[in-house]
Amino acid sequence: MSKPRPVVIRGGRLLDLATHRAEAADILVVAATIREIGPPGLAVPADAMAIAAEDRLLVPGLVNAHTHAHGGLAKGMVADRVPLEMFLSSAGALSAGRTTEEKYLSTLISGVEMVRKGCTASYDLVVEYPAPSADGVRAVAQAYLDLGMRAVVAPMMADRTLYQALPGLVEAMPETLREEARRLATAPREASIAACEQILRDWPFDRERLRPALAPTIPLHCSDDFLRACHRLAREHAVGMQTHLAETKAQAVLGIKRYGKSLVAHLAELGLLDETLSAAHAIWIEPDDIARLADAGVKVVHNPLSNLRLGSGVAPVRRMLDRGIAVGIGTDAANTSDTQNMFEATRLAAYLSRLATPDYARWLSVEESFTLATTGSARVMGMGERIGRLAPGFAADIVFLDLSHINYVPLGDAAIQLVNGENGAAVDSVMIDGRMVLERGRLLTIDEAKLRNDAEAAMRRLGAANAEALATARTLGAVVGVFCLGQARASHAVHRALREEDYR
Ligand SMILES: [Zn+2]
Repeated sequence: MSKPRPVVIRGGRLLDLATHRAEAADILVVAATIREIGPPGLAVPADAMAIAAEDRLLVPGLVNAHTHAHGGLAKGMVADRVPLEMFLSSAGALSAGRTTEEKYLSTLISGVEMVRKGCTASYDLVVEYPAPSADGVRAVAQAYLDLGMRAVVAPMMADRTLYQALPGLVEAMPETLREEARRLATAPREASIAACEQILRDWPFDRERLRPALAPTIPLHCSDDFLRACHRLAREHAVGMQTHLAETKAQAVLGIKRYGKSLVAHLAELGLLDETLSAAHAIWIEPDDIARLADAGVKVVHNPLSNLRLGSGVAPVRRMLDRGIAVGIGTDAANTSDTQNMFEATRLAAYLSRLATPDYARWLSVEESFTLATTGSARVMGMGERIGRLAPGFAADIVFLDLSHINYVPLGDAAIQLVNGENGAAVDSVMIDGRMVLERGRLLTIDEAKLRNDAEAAMRRLGAANAEALATARTLGAVVGVFCLGQARASHAVHRALREEDYR
C-alpha cells in the first residue's frame, strides 16, 4: 500500500475554548496525526492534498464514553415511561437471537448516527446472549472499522439474572410469576471468562483504532468472584473495565441490603477500584464514595440523556470534578436514550448542572462541558494522549461545522453556540484518523440506503422471533417496576432527585 499523502486543511476556523474565539487556521495532517497548526498560508509539503474548510468551524470529534451498539436494532422498542430496572427486565428479549450479521448491523446503525452527529470515537459495552463470543465482539469491532470510527469494544456480562440480582424481588412476586423468573438463567461465569480470555488474547485489530475491554455490567448482577475474575483479566491484558455504578436509587438501596455498605465501598473491598475501572452513571453515590473513586483514579461517565429518559437522577458531576475525577460524557444506548447525539448529551450535562445548585459559579461552563465530551471521554477510553484535542501530536479526528447553517447565523460567541445550541444539524464533514468519513453531508464508507433496508428487515425478523419472550418479560417487568418504586421511596442518605418529597 502506498503511503497516504499529507493533508492540509485550509482556512477553517479553529475554536479556541479558552477565549471562545474562532480564528482562521491551516492544519497539516501527516500519517493521520496533526503535525502543525498555523495561520492561513501555512507552508506544507509539495505533495500535500488540500481540503478547503472556509466557512467551517473546526472542533475535535466528540467522544462517546458510554454506549451500547446493540441498542441500534432496538430503537423505539423500550416503552415510554419505564425506569432502568423495568427496561432491564426486557433487555434480554430485545437483544436475543441475533445473528453475527445483525450484531454488525446494529453497531453500524448506532455508529452512523454518531458520525453524522459529530462523534468520532465510542466506548461500547456490547451484550450477547447467552454469552459473549469472539465472533460477535469482532463483528462489532469490524463494523466500527468499516465505518471508519475509533472504538473500545467491551463484552458486557453478568452471572446473575435481574431476579437473582435484586434481593427480595422474587419473594415480592406473585407465586404465578416466580417460576417464570426462576427459569431465566445467565451463562455460567466460567464460559463468559473463557470467551473473554480468547477475545483479549486473539484481538486482531490495531489497538490505536479498536481496543478491547471488559464490562461486568452492574455490580449487583455479578458475583464477587466474577467481578474479581474480570478485573484480574483486564489487568493481565492491560485493557479497561467499565461497569454501571449506582445508576438508580433502587440499586443503591438494594446494594446496602446485599452488602451492608455502599456499592462503591463494596467494590473497594473487592480491590476493584483503580485506574483500570470506569464507572458509568455514578448517580447515587455519597461524598465518601466520591473520595474513594477519586483517590483510586477511577474514571466516571456522565450519561444525562438516559439518566433523564429512565428517571435515574442527577449525577453529582461538579463534586466529582472538585475531587479531580476524570469525567467523560456518554449517550448510553440508542434504545434507552433514543439517540446517539453527543451534542445533546453535552448540552444536557451543562444544563443539568444548574439543577444541582443555585450557585451559578458551580454550574458547568461551556468550556467544561465540551472538555468533558472530548478530553474527559478520551481519558475514559484510555486514549487521552491521542484524541480529544486539535493540537500537534493528536490524531486528526476533526468535525467540520457549517457556519452558514442557521445554528450559527449570526455568529456571536462560537463556543456558546456550539455547546448550548448545536444539535448535530450543522455537521458538514467528519475526518477520523486523517481520513474523511463524512464529506459535505455524504457518508463515504457505508451505503446508507442498504443499511436502512437491512435494518428494517432485521427488526421485522427479530420482532417476530422475540415477540413471545418480550411479552413474558413485560409481564414480569410490571412487577419489577412496582418493587423498584418501593426501593426508590425508601429513605436513603443520598438525594439525587429534583424534590425529595415527591419520591415519597
Ligand atoms: Zn449503559
